[in-house]
Amino acid sequence: MAVSHAIVFDLDDTLYPERSFTFSGYRAVAAAFADRIGASFDLCSRMGELFDTPARGRVFDVVLAEAGVTDAAALVPEMIDAFRRHQPDIRLHPDADAALTRLRAGHRLGVISDGPLEMQSNKVGALGIGPRVDEVILTDRWGREFWKPHPRAFEQMATKLAVPPEQCVYVADNPAKDFVAPNALGWRTVFVKRPDGIYADRQAPPGGEAGAVIESLEALAAG
Ligand SMILES: [Mg+2]
Repeated sequence: MAVSHAIVFDLDDTLYPERSFTFSGYRAVAAAFADRIGASFDLCSRMGELFDTPARGRVFDVVLAEAGVTDAAALVPEMIDAFRRHQPDIRLHPDADAALTRLRAGHRLGVISDGPLEMQSNKVGALGIGPRVDEVILTDRWGREFWKPHPRAFEQMATKLAVPPEQCVYVADNPAKDFVAPNALGWRTVFVKRPDGIYADRQAPPGGEAGAVIESLEALAAG
């Protein structure tokens, strides 16, 4: 598909596999807390197993309970903090890497991402995205109330790139929150529905349907 003058990407599960960040975090947390937890099983492997169960949202609580830790209430916040602050070992999706190179000539490129500021900033650094795009906006720099679907990041991106809204496209993976604001502002929207996307099956709210669906960023043609 032909794309607009400015191409703005979401980060997690759009440019790199979010799952790989989570597992990178589990490795960091397991290494940092192994002595204090003293589990008789492999902490990191168990966290990875739990990620693919309904316990995904409380992996640290479950693993501490299984290890027989009694002061879990004190440890969990520390583990979450270590998870968010760790230096991630992550890589771009190959099609994303190729698209950033292919589309750089002839387009303005940007990234808009939600999530805790330090965590998202570490991801951007680890992926080496900064020098490859014109503008990165991490919405958490303004506070959580400005996370998607708040329109501020999209308005600011169009201004920074000096591209009118109708010539901007947002490419993202989560129909539940990604497309409401850019749709409302007159951007084009593209849902990259990856087979292994964590959020690929989320329902779009009213006004939140993407204008197009692709399976990989290979479908974004230069020109
Ligand atoms: Mg995402």
